[in-house]
Amino acid sequence: MYEKKEKKSVETGNGLTSLAELGEFGLIERLTRNVKRYHPETLKGIGDDAAVIDAGNKVILLSTDLLVEGIHFDLTYMPFKHLGYKAAVVNISDIAAMNGVPKQMTVSIAVSSRFSAEALDELYAGVVMACDKYKVDLVGGDTSSNIKGLMISVSIMGEAKKEEVIYRSGARPGDLLCVTGDLGSAYIGLLILEREKSVFQVDPNMQPELSGFDYQIGRQLRPEARTDIRNLLIGTGIRPTSMIDISDGLASEILHICKQSGVGCKLFEEKIPMDEYTRELAKEYKIIPSVAALSGGEDYELLFTVKQEDYDKIKDIAGITIIGHMTATTEGKFMITPDGKAIPLTAQGWDGMKGR
Ligand code: ADP
Ligand code: MG
Repeated sequence: MYEKKEKKSVETGNGLTSLAELGEFGLIERLTRNVKRYHPETLKGIGDDAAVIDAGNKVILLSTDLLVEGIHFDLTYMPFKHLGYKAAVVNISDIAAMNGVPKQMTVSIAVSSRFSAEALDELYAGVVMACDKYKVDLVGGDTSSNIKGLMISVSIMGEAKKEEVIYRSGARPGDLLCVTGDLGSAYIGLLILEREKSVFQVDPNMQPELSGFDYQIGRQLRPEARTDIRNLLIGTGIRPTSMIDISDGLASEILHICKQSGVGCKLFEEKIPMDEYTRELAKEYKIIPSVAALSGGEDYELLFTVKQEDYDKIKDIAGITIIGHMTATTEGKFMITPDGKAIPLTAQGWDGMKGR
């Protein structure tokens, strides 16, 4: 988990490589270039939502996420309980993205003396609430002091049968590109919270005006993981060819599937499912609504591909939308606008949207 904000670190000016230049994925590739694999049980290491480890008649799924104060959350508007809940959910979501069942997690925290035990009680109440809801056992962790701020790192284990696991790499040209739920609301929720925060900072006596935005703010502060999709797909007999969760924005997640699968794609802008009020709010913020979905992130919906022959099975399932299809890699990665323009998909959808 990496926030775009971090990329702002500037040129080092001393011949060393700046992180800004590398970007998140460049950095991960660089750091892990000498990593060897010693155990044949390690079926999948770096590069998917979770590692996949052979455990005989099943596989273990393993994933971890780090949340850092000031980067991933702002305690001005993020209640501790929500933060604990979200820290657990973003990990559970990675297991859902592999088509697995979440089972155990560890939670590690680093806290400065600025925090009270009561505040951390609330944080853990949130973690436990998520564990209860998703039936995950909290089995350990680590606790450390910190010079400044709060960090939470959650690691999660899940299970699946080997043949059930869905990787990012299985998409083929012609496959339909599908998404669960709706997108962009978590980002609009963040904008609303940021706006009210600046009002609050100018005049501390002002009460933030958050009523009416429950859906958007809820999506930002208290996301859910789509663990229900596994059973829904089993029930309909559809087996996705690839899958990923949407933590960083639709565009970047589509590009991950394209890269790992060696395919291109055509995404149809008007098909992107969005809450109607979120669309309106996006326009108020002078954002093209689809950009909130393409670049916003944190919706924690699932993005997946299915074989074209599954079209009849998938087309009428409530809460699943077909938004495009995969193509040969030579055909590129494009979003088609309602008036038929093809815009190259970029990880920061903003760039691609310039000049529209
Ligand atoms: P996600 O968005 O699903 O949480 P990330 O984008 O954070 O996944 O990570 C992509 C892949 O890189 C994952 O397989 C993750 O385990 C791996 N990864 C991320 N950071 C590191 C790191 N510092 N060292 C080794 N592997 C990493
Ligand atoms: Mg993920």
